Amino acid sequence: STLFEAVELAPRDPILGLNEQYNADERTGKVNLGVGVYYDDQGRVPLLKCVHQAEVDRVQAAGAHSYLPIEGLASLNKAARELLLGKDSEANTSGRAFTVQALGGTGALKIGADYLKQLLPNAKVAISAPSWENHRALFERAGFDVVEYAYYDPQSHGLNLDGMLASLKALPDSSIVVLHACCHNPTGVDPTPAQWQQIADTIKEKNHISFLDIAYQGFGDGLVEDAAAVRMFVQMGLTCLISTSFSKSFSLYGERIGALTVVTSSADEAKRVLSQVKRVIRTNYSNPPTFGGAVVAEVLNSEKLFALWDAELAQMRSRIKEMRDQLVSKLQAAGVAQNFDFVLTQKGMFSYSGLTASQVDRLREEHGIYAVSSGRICVAALNSQNIDGVVDAIASVLK
Ligand code: PMP
Repeated sequence: STLFEAVELAPRDPILGLNEQYNADERTGKVNLGVGVYYDDQGRVPLLKCVHQAEVDRVQAAGAHSYLPIEGLASLNKAARELLLGKDSEANTSGRAFTVQALGGTGALKIGADYLKQLLPNAKVAISAPSWENHRALFERAGFDVVEYAYYDPQSHGLNLDGMLASLKALPDSSIVVLHACCHNPTGVDPTPAQWQQIADTIKEKNHISFLDIAYQGFGDGLVEDAAAVRMFVQMGLTCLISTSFSKSFSLYGERIGALTVVTSSADEAKRVLSQVKRVIRTNYSNPPTFGGAVVAEVLNSEKLFALWDAELAQMRSRIKEMRDQLVSKLQAAGVAQNFDFVLTQKGMFSYSGLTASQVDRLREEHGIYAVSSGRICVAALNSQNIDGVVDAIASVLK
């Protein structure tokens, strides 16, 4: 017998599997709303002007491709931490927070998960119901038992706050709670500031460890606004790990650029924890790649490029909002009976549309429109050319 003889075929990734199906579809007018990517109104992944400028600068500087330190580029880490916590935040100036460069938001979650497993081998990890599908897999791979806390309320299309607080209270003390800091994926439903306060109070009471995932900073209400929950937790003195993704906000998906920030209770603690996190990195991939980090660092550290980035983010944000507005008003004009106003208050790239799995199947089979079976659609994949077709198709499966 051979080593691999009895190996089973792993199931396809649900979202990447949908992409494969979409690519093989030969119908014209097909639309892929299953993705987690921002497209511009021409249906292209944009190259941001600020990114292009930083790329040109980098090439012209003709720098060598040496190794970065284990923790990555210092100028990136500092700027990423300031973007998250605020330049003058006490956690920043006191040295009790540190940041390491990571391979996207996924890489930051993975480093954090592996480190926590070493520190708290028996802790439970709680993720939202529902959550980004990789959260469970990632923490299970790191060796944790993963459970869910109540989050989405399908009746109101909003947050089930009471259920959420009850779940957090029912967890063993000192559990690890994974939270979407803004622009919840897949629902688009975020807590209000007052609800965040109640969530944070409960987490504090229970001595839980917060792992805040922020993959869409700038896609909700703005760079500073979207960091409000993170800053609230940090100001309350909670121990936090924060995974940042720059994939969407810089449209740098393939460069795999993100960061892990850890907020401890003293500079001395931070120093010791950093030394342990570096060991996790060293034994995984040694040190991060240079290019994406250099590009993001230049944009974050240049006043001019930062302003350009902020403006380009605002454009992406307002285009998504425009698509939300049009989707709702066009569905109403098409005479659908259901009220879709909740789509207007959802934040970020996604909408939990309320479409059922069988309606999603019909959209795909009858109209060539691809969405996730949960009903999640990527609003950032709608544009002025495809929206009317999408609206007609949704109206027809709702009849
Ligand atoms: N967390 C969430 C909630 C996400 O939606 C994503 C991306 N889809 C990530 C993390 C991972 O981002 P990255 O591509 O930078 O690894």
